[in-house]
Amino acid sequence: MQLNDSGLLQTQGFIDGQWRSAMSGKTFEVINPATGALLAEVADMGAAETREAIEAAENAMQSWKALPAKARCDILERWFDLIIAAQEDLAQLMTAEQGKPLAEARGEVAYGAAYLKWFSEEGKRVYGDVIPQQSDRRGLVIKQPVGVVAAITPWNFPNAMITRKVAPALAVGCAVVLKPAAETPLSALALAELAKRAGLPDGLFNIVTGLDAPAIGGEMTGSKIVRKVTFTGSTPVGKLLMRQCADTVKRTSMELGGNAPVIIFDDADLELAVNGAIAAKYRNSGQTCICSNRLLVQAGIYDKFVEKFAEKVKAFNVGNGALDGTTHGPLITTKAVNDVHSKVLDAIDGGACVVTGGKPGAQGAHFYEPTVLTNVHSGMRVFREEIFGPVAPVFKFDTEAEAIAMANDTEFGLASYVYTENMGRIFRVSEALEYGMVGVNETAISSELIPFGGVKESGQGREGSKYGLNDYLETKYICLGGLNRA
Ligand code: NAP
Repeated sequence: MQLNDSGLLQTQGFIDGQWRSAMSGKTFEVINPATGALLAEVADMGAAETREAIEAAENAMQSWKALPAKARCDILERWFDLIIAAQEDLAQLMTAEQGKPLAEARGEVAYGAAYLKWFSEEGKRVYGDVIPQQSDRRGLVIKQPVGVVAAITPWNFPNAMITRKVAPALAVGCAVVLKPAAETPLSALALAELAKRAGLPDGLFNIVTGLDAPAIGGEMTGSKIVRKVTFTGSTPVGKLLMRQCADTVKRTSMELGGNAPVIIFDDADLELAVNGAIAAKYRNSGQTCICSNRLLVQAGIYDKFVEKFAEKVKAFNVGNGALDGTTHGPLITTKAVNDVHSKVLDAIDGGACVVTGGKPGAQGAHFYEPTVLTNVHSGMRVFREEIFGPVAPVFKFDTEAEAIAMANDTEFGLASYVYTENMGRIFRVSEALEYGMVGVNETAISSELIPFGGVKESGQGREGSKYGLNDYLETKYICLGGLNRA
């Protein structure tokens, strides 16, 4: 890993504007998933450091929330500029610790930075209301920052999942304590270094790195100071955090797992559908929450679709994401490889046909072959569970009603996709899908401009867009009385 700016490689936690080792002196290893090489030893912090970070956040927030919105937003904009200037280094760091190809990593840095730019603008537009009441009174509604925010983020988007939370929180006057995933702390720490350089006052953005997630999460959820927990990660951990937050009645935002269907009707533009399904399935080697988990293809074009789809999958160049020409990188851990393989074996046991792939990759312990499965059905784990790997099961359906029923037959409800040229069907199907997001003839649906989030057990709250601010604001009603007195 060759960085132009070596100051971006930080290995200590970041509390109250200071780089800090763990109180215990312990560290943990960050490994390159493509090569197995040791990248860094990072401070292994726990509950005590989390407590300190929360207190620092509470102190820092008092003057931060009192600033004019423009002053806060100017700092976010400077932070955005510095991230864009450091895009190449941040991408190198991300590919090294996360594995995604450099082109995808560069894209994520730009995507992540876009949330800072967006909320640096949107943060100036936190409006309230005046409510007409009896003649001698008026009701004012104002919006105020929710308070200290605790954020917990996953490894699959080690930059953007952080900025999506931190940008709106800071824009409206909150302070944040972040626990990044243990696999990918370096991208988070580099963001903190750039925030410091942008002039963000100490204590507003704290990072607690550590292996003991339950201890750090327990301190965050148990704290009376923390008023909001925002989490991106798996549904089981999200449910646990929600239960833990109940005791102090905290606000929560939950961006959890998905089981996205891509529904492709006979009347679809086949080329568009194949390309969209490839992108949605195999981006980040299948490790995104909005990755298509289930391809649902109508019987009339099923065979043609599978043939074209598999042809493209066979042309992938799987390998180290840092090397030119690599289209798809490794999975994050060997545990992830084993987990994906167990779902493929379950499908094969149930009668699935392997069109291509179907086993761990030859490139190293973290690789899995891009896989296409046919002859699959709803009793299989690949239908019911989030695969989180480069495996595409292609299911067959006959009617529109059947497709909708299959798509909704899951406890998840994050992203879904539909390919059809029929306008009536676009509306019927989009409205019937029990999902927070629907892509119609498009699978690249995410950006800072749109409200990203799920329904059912995929979570609650929205990130990005004008709606993304609400998750960090409280609504206060002020009653002004006695207005008719002379
Ligand atoms: P995960 O195991 O739930 O971990 C996510 C984060 O939670 C990590 O920082 C992890 O720390 C932490 N964590 C784990 N157990 C915890 C506990 N008991 N208390 C507090 N924190 C805890 O999920 P993942 O495997 O990293 O990420 C993949 C999942 O995220 C998938 O389900 C994916 O769909 C979902 N995701 C959702 C979205 C969305 O916007 N809806 C976006 C991206 C990913 P450690 O790393 O230290 O274990």
